[in-house]
Amino acid sequence: MLKIKDLHVQVGGTEIIKGLTLEIKPGETHAIMGLNGAGKSTLANTIAGRDDYTVTEGTITYQGKNLLDFEPHERVGEGIFLGFQYPVEIPGVSNLNFMRTALNGVRKYNGLEAMTAADFMKLVRAKAKALDMNPDMLKRFVNVGFSGGEKKRNEMLQMALLDPKLAVLDETDSGLDIDALRIVSEGINAQRRDDTSILLITHYQRLLDYVQPDFVHIMIDGKIVKSGGKELAIELEEKGYASVV
Ligand code: ADP
Ligand code: MG
Repeated sequence: MLKIKDLHVQVGGTEIIKGLTLEIKPGETHAIMGLNGAGKSTLANTIAGRDDYTVTEGTITYQGKNLLDFEPHERVGEGIFLGFQYPVEIPGVSNLNFMRTALNGVRKYNGLEAMTAADFMKLVRAKAKALDMNPDMLKRFVNVGFSGGEKKRNEMLQMALLDPKLAVLDETDSGLDIDALRIVSEGINAQRRDDTSILLITHYQRLLDYVQPDFVHIMIDGKIVKSGGKELAIELEEKGYASVV
């Protein structure tokens, strides 16, 4: 699904990712854990193709293609989804309109007909219900006035609608109370299939009780310094980064 080899990324002229190698196969869920400033969001933004994140060395291969050849919207069309650590508010754009435009954009990219308004409404209502979201949030402007937890649920709603092959979820657990964490985790688990992969970025072990990863990687200063199974996350929580690494 995703093969990252010796990746180096600069942001604003400073090297943040310093030789990162990671391989994710179809059907696998990987977690990257690391303290603030380790470069986790930089990695997520680089996979999504955000402007001003410059790859200076190394490669990212996605489903056998050079990912770096694709524009951000093309990466979405190819099946990549990024759940933002800090979801953006977009005043003036209704959440429904935003999601329908995104979904139909992806469908068009893949040679499919646009979904009708009626079919879309049926789909989005069902997905929102599964995430225990108040239907009023669909009509409001994108993320405007949403609580931290509501923003994260809204990211999960977008993921459920777009049904990505590779979902990169950047601190999706932050700001969630325990009930919301459970619901969001169910949404992530529903996205786990033999043909999909998930990259969870988190700095707490808590999420990993609900979404059990196949592999855990510890990232420090722009590199993966240790990898293991889910027991590594538990060890990290108990002993702290200093003694584990
Ligand atoms: P994490 O998500 O692991 O907390 P980030 O990827 O957000 O880490 O940030 C890694 C480092 O990159 C931090 O030291 C941060 O200050 C720096 N950084 C992030 N964005 C920029 C930017 N636009 N310009 C310069 N430095 C940045
Ligand atoms: Mg971050």
